[in-house]
Amino acid sequence: MGLCVFDLDHTLIRTPLDLAAMAADMRRLIERERGPLPDRPERYRVFELVAWSKSQAPDLERAVWAIALEHEWRAMGAAALEPGALDAVGGARRAGVQTALWTNNARPVTLPALERLGLAPLLDLVVTRDDMTALKPDPDGWRIIAEHFGARLDARAASADTATRFAGTRDAVVVGDSWVDGVAAAAVGVPFVAYGAREADLTRHGVTPVAWLSDLARLPEWLTTHFGFQGSPRRSNRLGSHCHDGHGRT
Ligand SMILES: [Mg+2]
Repeated sequence: MGLCVFDLDHTLIRTPLDLAAMAADMRRLIERERGPLPDRPERYRVFELVAWSKSQAPDLERAVWAIALEHEWRAMGAAALEPGALDAVGGARRAGVQTALWTNNARPVTLPALERLGLAPLLDLVVTRDDMTALKPDPDGWRIIAEHFGARLDARAASADTATRFAGTRDAVVVGDSWVDGVAAAAVGVPFVAYGAREADLTRHGVTPVAWLSDLARLPEWLTTHFGFQGSPRRSNRLGSHCHDGHGRT
């Protein structure tokens, strides 16, 4: 029995969610209330602005989240399935693999979209930002997943404890489009499967996927091989042609 943990945006669904615009709105609010943030070449990311408000301006945190929710409501209303998403999640289930969602989105926005798109009945667990203390790339969401499935909090700490169902790093995988998914997975020692990810972004953040998927529908086949493989640790492999047109946004 294995466990496959999916990211949502640009992994299982396509949304017009513009995280750069969301971050810009958040920064505008913060700077209006607190003055300019330090200049830097790279834009401030959503998770950084959320973390900043949490630690530096707790009275602004609610307003910062309200901006996120507003963007998400609009985007989720227009969400569509990523090609092969139902085949990937349903196929994983049929292959005997348990399934979970690990998303930085809010629960009230996520659940109706999962229902509408037919993903809800295919997922054993849904972990949203309402369940975690910090957004990906922070690995806190894994804590909920580990608790639910009896997985190890840190898969790298795997031992000969056969009572633990997910004792080894090869018993769970995280599938996502962004470096934040890869960094979160690496933090708990879980292999990362990249789908539609930008290789340059992953490299820049030190993420080395165990596999690259260009066709989500081929995931069950990969999972079967991965979880069924009994030999020495597998090398990184690729399925189909390498896909460079992902978003990798945070
Ligand atoms: Mg994503």
